[in-house]
Amino acid sequence: MEIQENYSLKDHNSFQVNAKARYFAKASHLEDLIELLQFSQQRKLPFLVLGGGSNILFTQDYEGIVIALELRGIHEEKQNEDYILVHAHSGENWHQFVQYCIQKNYGGLENLSLIPGNVGTCPIQNIGAYGVEIKDHFHSCVVLNTETLLTETLNLEDCHFGYRDSIFKNSAKGKYIILSVCFKLSTQNHILRQNYGAISQQLAADGIRNPNISDIANAVIKIRQSKLPNPKEIGNAGSFFKNPIVPKEQYLALEKQHPNLPHYPAGDQIKIPAGWLIEQSGWKGKVIGNVGCHSLQALVIINATGKATGKEIYDFSSLIIDSVHHQFGITLEREVNIL
Ligand SMILES: Cc1cc2nc3c(=O)[nH]c(=O)nc-3n(C[C@H](O)[C@H](O)[C@H](O)COP(=O)(O)OP(=O)(O)OC[C@H]3O[C@@H](n4cnc5c(N)ncnc54)[C@H](O)[C@@H]3O)c2cc1C
Repeated sequence: MEIQENYSLKDHNSFQVNAKARYFAKASHLEDLIELLQFSQQRKLPFLVLGGGSNILFTQDYEGIVIALELRGIHEEKQNEDYILVHAHSGENWHQFVQYCIQKNYGGLENLSLIPGNVGTCPIQNIGAYGVEIKDHFHSCVVLNTETLLTETLNLEDCHFGYRDSIFKNSAKGKYIILSVCFKLSTQNHILRQNYGAISQQLAADGIRNPNISDIANAVIKIRQSKLPNPKEIGNAGSFFKNPIVPKEQYLALEKQHPNLPHYPAGDQIKIPAGWLIEQSGWKGKVIGNVGCHSLQALVIINATGKATGKEIYDFSSLIIDSVHHQFGITLEREVNIL
């Protein structure tokens, strides 16, 4: 295993920001990972585990060791006629894993097609799209405790999943490295979720009346490709902000001023699409210097020229937060991990 110094992270983050890591190494086995953690402990340096780099913004060089997790492998454990447990190692690419499940006719993850990143990262922010979140099919995960260097298994309850949230972003931040994730998937009588977003319209446009999980995945892929910029072509990290959830009273007060305010129930509170708030604040399609707000999806901040620094992107996001707060009294929260 090679440890490289002053390594450019440009190809390891979907914003394509040219930050440098003081040290960089790839861990293909658990032993590599433990060795690299010991390296960081001995030198009293921080470490950062990286998956696909699609939910991170480097605002400065990283003065520690960046560990690209490349643990690979998938195995299955049949439960009964209806369900199977599928274990995938953290370095598996998420979309390829979803495709693998669809080819095997394992249902549950199809609405989460084409989300960038790796399997090991999906529990961190409880990834979600088109009415499905990872928690809906999560069974357990195996983690490395970075304090004891021993492995532990966490089940659904242990992970405290919430909207783009989990224990890994809160009380256990930095404590665990996810080594593999186990999903509970259906093998027959799949529950198809086609009433969210434009899925049913896309299926109708494709002339599909009785969809299977593969049809749902293809519809989601088409919709995503038409709306979201491909990070390989233009640097971005998908939704930069979370959709704010506000008390009902605040929503009702806002609705008086903005009668067409879109909203969704979120328990006894109300979720408001951040993209709408940003668009109404005049940011959609706006570019300042090297950074812009995407012209089709206001929730996505882009590295417009390919030359943006992380600091420029961060400052641009602060301008959006200030502007939305000024107009609506709502403080947007960043979804992307800032370093
Ligand atoms: C075009 C685009 C569209 C997107 N659409 C969606 C969407 O629809 N829904 C959604 O939820 N997200 C979406 N995202 C965000 C992103 O794809 C997800 O958050 C994804 O899970 C990030 O995975 P990653 O491997 O790239 O994470 P990284 O960016 O590599 O890491 C993210 C954070 O997790 C930590 N981390 C990484 N791996 C591990 C591990 N094994 N153990 C512990 N910590 C770890 C990192 O240190 C970092 O803090 C989108 C991103 C893009 C670019």
